[in-house]
Amino acid sequence: MSRSDFELKTSEQFIAMRKAGLITAKALEAVRKACVAGVSTLELDRIANETIESFGGHSNFQLVAGYNHTICASINHEVVHGIPAEARILEAGDILSVDCGAEIDGWNGDSAITIIVPNADGSVPETDKVKARIELSRVTEGSLWAGIAALDKAERLNEVGAAIEDYIDAQGKYGILEDYVGHGIGRNMHEEPPVYHFRTKDLGPKVTPGLAVAIEPMVTAGSNKTKVLADGWTVVSKDSSDASHWEHSVAVHDTGIWVLTEIDGGLEKLKQFGISPVALD
Ligand code: MG
Ligand code: MG
Repeated sequence: MSRSDFELKTSEQFIAMRKAGLITAKALEAVRKACVAGVSTLELDRIANETIESFGGHSNFQLVAGYNHTICASINHEVVHGIPAEARILEAGDILSVDCGAEIDGWNGDSAITIIVPNADGSVPETDKVKARIELSRVTEGSLWAGIAALDKAERLNEVGAAIEDYIDAQGKYGILEDYVGHGIGRNMHEEPPVYHFRTKDLGPKVTPGLAVAIEPMVTAGSNKTKVLADGWTVVSKDSSDASHWEHSVAVHDTGIWVLTEIDGGLEKLKQFGISPVALD
């Protein structure tokens, strides 16, 4: 499939995709609630899967060849694709990125959040290290929303990456991953076109109604260089700096954007940009 050859979706198809997006959002919400020091990442995986299936959906991560889990759980210097395990017990103050996706009726959702793992009472250690992790997650999430807001006005898709890079550069010194990028989404979790989270000369495709993309900045507190661990999946920062990953699947309608994997469609977060997302549900 050539890059200009991706499928543009109809409003009806977006409504079907919204179902997959909402299930993904609910799974991540359940994970966030259960995420506390002492819990294993395999337990979070189980909770995500139970939530998805309770709504009649299926984990689309389990459809990825060779991957047998519902979430990726990446701790501290792990950036993405961390494998859930019974032995991976979370500690208070860990920075955990959770990536999850659901499929229902042939359509897909894909989203990721970062959690600073709290103690049972909800507190987090008040150390400089943990404060820097909170800030790293804030910057990464902020860059995601800057990218989503840019999509609302964009003529070409590369304006999203430019907005993400500009936002992050204004916050301080961070590494934006280039080895892994966002993607189109629809009947498959990963479709054309690629979505870059940094400025590119390549303009990318025109942003037109029917486009659906997963925007997912992966940001480190240090270098943007990565390596894959011996398990064949886990991507870590080469300099062992902490990492954060935030992602949403976003639809472009003829009347505006719709954040498919956010419970409120992006209403609250897009207010700061003066954008009212389309709500078809
Ligand atoms: Mg994802
Ligand atoms: Mg993705």
